[in-house]
Formats: sequence, C-alpha cells, structure tokens
Amino acid sequence: MTGPIIMKFGGTSVGSADRIRTVAGIVAKAKKQRNVVVVISAMSSVTNTLVSAGRHAAGKNMAGLNRDFKHLQTIHLEAISGLRLDDAAAAGLRTTVEAHLAHLRKLLDSILELGELTPRAHDLIVSFGERISVRLLAQALTAIGVPADPIDAGALIVTSDTFGNAAPHLEESQRQARPIIQELFKKGRIPVVTGYMGATAGGITTTLGRGASDYSATILGYCLDAAAVEIWTDVDGVMTADPKMVSDAHTIGALSYNEAAELSYFGANVLHPLTMVPAARKMIPIWIKNTFNPTHPGTKISGQIHASEYGGKAISILKNVSLITVQGKGMLGVPGVAGRVFGEVARADINVLFISQASSEFNISFIVMHQDGGKAVKILQKAFHQNLTENTIEAVAIQESLAIVAVVGEGMKGHFGVAGRIFTALGDAQINIMAIAQGSSERNISLVISMDDVSEAAQSTHRAFKMGKAKVSL
Ligand code: ASP
Ligand code: MG
Repeated sequence: MTGPIIMKFGGTSVGSADRIRTVAGIVAKAKKQRNVVVVISAMSSVTNTLVSAGRHAAGKNMAGLNRDFKHLQTIHLEAISGLRLDDAAAAGLRTTVEAHLAHLRKLLDSILELGELTPRAHDLIVSFGERISVRLLAQALTAIGVPADPIDAGALIVTSDTFGNAAPHLEESQRQARPIIQELFKKGRIPVVTGYMGATAGGITTTLGRGASDYSATILGYCLDAAAVEIWTDVDGVMTADPKMVSDAHTIGALSYNEAAELSYFGANVLHPLTMVPAARKMIPIWIKNTFNPTHPGTKISGQIHASEYGGKAISILKNVSLITVQGKGMLGVPGVAGRVFGEVARADINVLFISQASSEFNISFIVMHQDGGKAVKILQKAFHQNLTENTIEAVAIQESLAIVAVVGEGMKGHFGVAGRIFTALGDAQINIMAIAQGSSERNISLVISMDDVSEAAQSTHRAFKMGKAKVSL
C-alpha cells in the first residue's frame, strides 16, 4: 500500500466556521481516494493573541490579559456556533473547548501571579491555539460523515527541549507516530493533528517556531512515508515575484527542494524554511495548494530540477532590514575579527541574514532584521570598545530602511552571465546596490538596496530574466 497524504491547512484556511467547513469538504473528498492525515494551524490571529496574553500576564497587566482572553473565547465559541452541528455535537464540542479555555486561563493566572513567563510555560500557552482548532475541524468532519479524531502532536513528534524553536527527532518521532496513526487508519478514521507543537521525550510541550505548522506536516510525512504532503494556503502557489509589485508575476509549476528553501528563507512567505528538510530526506513531493481555489494545480516542490532559460526562476524580497558595517584600516589582515563579530551577534540571539566582506578587508558588513539592528550595534560597540578607542576599528555603523532582493534558481549554477544580467537590469533602472552576496550553492544571488527601490528592482529583474513569460511546466 502506498503511503497516506498529509494535508496541512494554515490559519486563514481555518479562520472561521465557514472556512473550517470548506476545509472539511476538501478533506472528505481526498479521503475517498486514500488515507489522509490532516495537520492544521491555530485559527488566524489566535497564536498572536496567545503570545500577547502571555506577555500581559508576565507584565502583571490584568486588563490586557482579560482583553486577549476575551478575544480567544469569542473567536472559538463563535466558530462552534457557525459549524452547523446538531445540538448534541455542538454541546459536546462547547464543553471540550471551554475546558481547554479554562485550563489556559489557569495557566495565565499563575503567570500573572508569578510575574514571570519561562520559555517552557510560553510554549505550553501558545500550543492552545492548535489544541482547540483541531477539535473544531475534527468535529466538523465527523458531522459530515467522515469520522475524525483530534490529536495533540506531543503524542507523535519528539523534539529537543529548545523551547520556542525545538528541533524534531525524526527517527524517534517515526517510532512513536506510526502505530498511533496506523491504528486510526485501520478504523477508517482521519487524524487531525496540531501543527506547530511537539513534546520532549519526557512529554513536556514544545513548539517548533512561528509559522512551523508546515514543518509539522513534512515531519509527519517523513514519519509515515507519505505519498505527498499538501500545504493548503491562501495563494495559488509559489509565485515568480510578489504580484503586488510585479503585474505579470505568476505561479511557478515546479520548484526543487533547494529553490523552495532559498525562496522561503528570503521572504517568500508561503512556507516555513525548514519544511523542505524532512521531505527531501525521503523524496516526498510537497504541493502548495489554494484552499480558496482548490482546482488550481498549485506548485509542486520535489527533487526534480527544472531549469529556466536564464537560470533565475523567482525573485524574493525581504523588506525592513539593516546593514551593519564594522570598518577600520586596522582590521586589515588581523585574524579573528570576523569570528568575534559573528560570535557576539550569535550570543545575543540575533539572526544574520547576509554577510559580505570586500577583499580589501577594510570592512565587514552584514544584514539583520530592522528590529535587531540597534541591539547589534550596541553589542559590537561594547565588544570592540578597546579597538574603537585605539582606532584600529573606526566605526560600527548602521544603515536602515533597506531590503534584500534575492534572485533564485537551480539553473543559475554554472550559468554564465547571471550576475551581469542582474546588475545591468538594476543599473538601467538607476538602482544603487549597497552589497552583494552569492551563496556558494550558486542558486541565489542577493543584493541589498534601499527600500525605496524595491518595486522597481523587482520589476526590472523579473523582466530581465523573462520570468513573466517563462512557462515552467511539469
Ligand atoms: N500557529 C502558529 C503560528 O502562528 C504556527 C503556524 O501557523 O504555522 O506561528
Ligand atoms: Mg504559515
């Protein structure tokens, strides 16, 4: 027997009772063909509200906490009323959801009392969004004659104890998940699994990082040797560029795992960047599908490589980044400066998105998200205080309101003139390039430009690589 399909639905896809019923319809149809495992996110806005509630509780802000909690009650209880269940099913579901909300409230009240929110408590609190949404969808499925069971992924996915950003242990998860899921398949039932969360080997709830329900889906795909993982979202698939900026941007039919990973890392919001890792290990194809346009074929992500004419296949843009530059003639040939810079930044938990060092070695530049910029500068000024006084390092400077434009494509590897094509396009559009980096994979060339030039840069590179015309077929 071939493996099941994993169908993952995001927060907007389960954002209201109507939408949950739409999802139930899509799942019921797929179940006629083969075994299905459903993975879902919390209803949209819920995870943000849970994060906020945790903060308000820790800050002893009772009014803020009450506001957040009220929102959580309203959104979930209204969804139950809209599900069109019979009276008994609705009453049963209301009791379950109210019990979850009461448990959540108890946890939040203890945090309010303590005035402290540990990473471990944070993970438990934010997991409630998915714990509740799976119960709504499982009931909606059961109501249309497709028996389904909600499952908290802590029973399936074993992770490290890095709360907030836990790493899955794939082999242990496989051993744990298989018998539980097989048992449900035997009974003809659909498991509806919480995205986002897992648990340590000791059973303590963890989360895999914001937006990680996609990752949960491919982790389960790995564990169950799935035939495919379908990521159902609110767009038709991965596009050549942001259609808000580029009018002839269109859905890409096929991407390799590496292309999809590069694109999601640099701002294409469709997928969590780690989603491709478990799928690629077992060569399981991932499909990006649109819940609101289910007949659109979407984007297939697999191990196959479909190169495009000029090598570049898509443009991804990351806005609101800052360029930090450590500069000084005294750095020339001094070993260890780069190590110190990045060591300090890493210790402060700041993510570096891009690095560039000119061969003159007079400066090291790197990019961080806007909100990390000020902190990075402070840390480096402190760490290099001595050098700054002696003037071996002249300055730690920051430039804000920048964006990274990344041109991505497998075909760029070894393809002559790719960088030239980008520079010519931007030069003709009179766009100033502040820094450049090419990953050694050669699948990605990234440029730093001013935020003011973003639309123009996207349009001119899209045109230069004929991305609007390229029909990438399967
Ligand atoms: N609900 C989680 C979040 O908002 C996970 C996800 O949606 O993928 O980050
Ligand atoms: Mg998402």
